[in-house]
Amino acid sequence: MKKISFALFAALILTACTKQQLPVANYDIIPQPKEVRLDDGKPFELSPKTIIHYEANLQREAQFLSEYVNDIFGYALKTQEYQGQTDGIVLKLSPADFNQAEAYEINITPKQITIKGADAAGVFYGIQTLRKSLPIQTSNLKPQTSQLPCGTIRDWPNFAYRGMHLDPCRHFIDLDSVKIYLDMMAMHNMNQFHFHLSEDQGWRIEIKKYPELTEIGAYRNGTVIGHNGNLYDTIRHGGFYTQDELRDLIQYAAERHINIIPEIDLPGHMQAALACYPNMGCTGGPYEVWRRWGVSDDVLCAGNEEAMQFAENVLNEVIDLFPSPYIHIGGDECPKVRWEKCPKCQAKIKELGIKGDGRFSKEDYLQSYVMNRMAKVVEARGRRVIGRRVIGWDEILEGNVSETAIIMSWRGIEGGIEAAQKGHDVIMTPLSHLYFDYYQSEDIANEPACIGGYLPVERVYEFQPLPSELTPEEQKHIIGVQANIWTEYIAHFWHVQYMAA
Ligand SMILES: [Zn+2]
Repeated sequence: MKKISFALFAALILTACTKQQLPVANYDIIPQPKEVRLDDGKPFELSPKTIIHYEANLQREAQFLSEYVNDIFGYALKTQEYQGQTDGIVLKLSPADFNQAEAYEINITPKQITIKGADAAGVFYGIQTLRKSLPIQTSNLKPQTSQLPCGTIRDWPNFAYRGMHLDPCRHFIDLDSVKIYLDMMAMHNMNQFHFHLSEDQGWRIEIKKYPELTEIGAYRNGTVIGHNGNLYDTIRHGGFYTQDELRDLIQYAAERHINIIPEIDLPGHMQAALACYPNMGCTGGPYEVWRRWGVSDDVLCAGNEEAMQFAENVLNEVIDLFPSPYIHIGGDECPKVRWEKCPKCQAKIKELGIKGDGRFSKEDYLQSYVMNRMAKVVEARGRRVIGRRVIGWDEILEGNVSETAIIMSWRGIEGGIEAAQKGHDVIMTPLSHLYFDYYQSEDIANEPACIGGYLPVERVYEFQPLPSELTPEEQKHIIGVQANIWTEYIAHFWHVQYMAA
């Protein structure tokens, strides 16, 4: 009797321990869902026997969830089409239940988890929430079963545009690493990837009409050491993406509900292109793919029709490749010192009848001519993507840029305020809050060296993208936010990941 009691007691303890040790999901995740309501009762138990049932069109979503579970627990879940099952995990579309795109609801009961979305993207974000809630297993002894407390989670985005930027020009980033970056974005419900593909220090996208751009322009013969001193290394640095590789990347991003916005930065930040085609600069060169950081005085010659057609031809190939509704044409940091002295640029100013005024110089207005001309190229190619528009950095407000251009407000939020008041759509990406190439702590000695600044995660979180200076009507022009990672001082992808995380 005593023995039996002991065995029973031991069994009870064992059961209790086993129960206690079962890992439990936690819905405190980033970004925090709008509503999380927990219910009492027995939790849902996730195990290798759990099946994911998906409605038609959500097969890829089901595979993603299975892969994520495999990453965490070491077992994949079986996926099959939904036929009214009352157990397992169900993925379904239910647009009538939501007021806006990309919204989702997760319902967890003891027998079943249902993720329903306004669209496939909504289901995908529900999957990300579920995935982030699962208990991370670091030991080799992965438990087979984990518990998900019952309840309901609802979420929807504040902004349609949720962007992350990456600069593979200052330091080249291979495609596998870019894919990891896209995975990091997907995990955080980000849906716009701003891919900065041309710079003074390297041209990164294959353009069939101008092969020299990548044969010559994709490589520099050394890099300045430290913070733009006078010492250089002699290591050849570079790389580029072929159009086939980019097509593969576009597909990879699309599966994760991410649009890729290509940027060709013009008419400044063009020195790598000028190294290939010196006649397109005002002085005729010679130019090198730049080995320094900063802002080069050498820009595209706006008075040279060949240079303008070059930019148009490049954009046309970019437009053919990327299905994005937005094409970024840069427009930032374009010094006017060459244009002021260039006979061709001055002749163009005369021909166009451009005059300076109290606010802007005639060269500023010449840049507006370039930006508006490129915007027309993009807008004219709307056959594949209706309503396709350009994005430019906030400098393009200096002059008379067309109202159809979307303004990326980076030097602060002031450019965004001015742009919204003028009727432009705006993406807020102020360096004060959203430049992730800045230091993350004040303990600089123990941080990897970076460009400078100080941007703790609290400041990122406290950013309010809708300025109170704007009327509610004007605030509607703020279509979203974006964080940027420039790589002058980020030579390795581990450092990119550190800065993004
Ligand atoms: Zn010129």
